[in-house]
Amino acid sequence: MINVTKTFLPPQEEYNAILKRAWNAGWITNRGALVQELEEKLKTYLKIPNIIVTTNGTLPLQIAIKALGLKGEIITTPFSYVATTSSIIWEGCTPVFVDIHPEYFTIDETKIEAAITPKTRGILATHVFGNPCAVEEIEAIAKRHNLKVIYDAAHCFGVTYKNKSIFEFGDVSTCSFHATKVFHTGEGGAMFTNNTELFDTLFYHHNFGHNGPLDFYGLGVNAKMSELQAAMGLVVFPYIDEIIIDRKEIVRYYKEHLKNVQLLKLREETQWNFSYFPVIFKTEEALLKVQKDLNENSVYPRRYFYPSLDKLPYIEARPCSISQDISRRILCLPLFYNLDIEIQKNIIQIINKAIC
Ligand SMILES: *Cc1c(COP(=O)(O)O)cnc(C)c1O
Repeated sequence: MINVTKTFLPPQEEYNAILKRAWNAGWITNRGALVQELEEKLKTYLKIPNIIVTTNGTLPLQIAIKALGLKGEIITTPFSYVATTSSIIWEGCTPVFVDIHPEYFTIDETKIEAAITPKTRGILATHVFGNPCAVEEIEAIAKRHNLKVIYDAAHCFGVTYKNKSIFEFGDVSTCSFHATKVFHTGEGGAMFTNNTELFDTLFYHHNFGHNGPLDFYGLGVNAKMSELQAAMGLVVFPYIDEIIIDRKEIVRYYKEHLKNVQLLKLREETQWNFSYFPVIFKTEEALLKVQKDLNENSVYPRRYFYPSLDKLPYIEARPCSISQDISRRILCLPLFYNLDIEIQKNIIQIINKAIC
């Protein structure tokens, strides 16, 4: 069975060797040596000033909303994973959807200002599939209207925009290290900010609000990454360049051989991480036919992202027609380290045949 992704697992001995360090130290969580080492390695690799690793990629979104004190409406994208929207609601705020750009699939910055009301407090946008939002325009809008900006950069490990880590943009940026992502710790994530005061607030929020064992800065939650997760990160980390180079070649091959489909348009000056390979068909019927033919050959692509989040059952929102349309027609094809070329050829052949 070939799925949309396959978790990269290094040789188990390498994981065991790192776990041994946790055993020897008798320390398996609460920011031990492995978490700290992982943070240092990631800072250097990503060329970012700071990072807080977390137990998943969803809590950082919730913590960012909380730490920035957002209460009211948050402008957001309908084309993302559900965690983007659910975090807003979980924090007691109201998501206000702004439709997406039909080719970049990120929030359409030209439509943001029309959605701002006196209750708007922030913007939470996703660099979907690792494709950067129009960060400069969004920053200008936020400045004009005194709004905070959070980027859900769950898909963005290693992405740079204008030679800067994409994690440097926004008041807070978050990432996911879930097993399905380009870099992973099984479950895991991270948050980033360039503001040192905000960094301290994010930090205590992820550790129950603690200021030492006997005192508290304020309200917090538990979003700490464990040593067991960090150990996974430390064994995956040395392979990351190899993983990305391999994915790049798979993407190149798909692009060269797939016919009559729309592909993701990357924003100019982006150095991408080849995180997903979305294909947009002319109609939903064409997508369903392709999906059926692939499934019959034990290939299971995923409908990322469907449904458009403005259609979630617990939401009342103005419909976003572009996002709904793209959601119905987009399919992410298998893309992972060591995807067999013969399997890829077969996938391409099935798709080209189904839509010819
Ligand atoms: C994966 C993902 C998340 C959530 O990350 P977890 O680590 O699974 O909690 C959030 N937003 C987007 C866009 C994602 O794809």
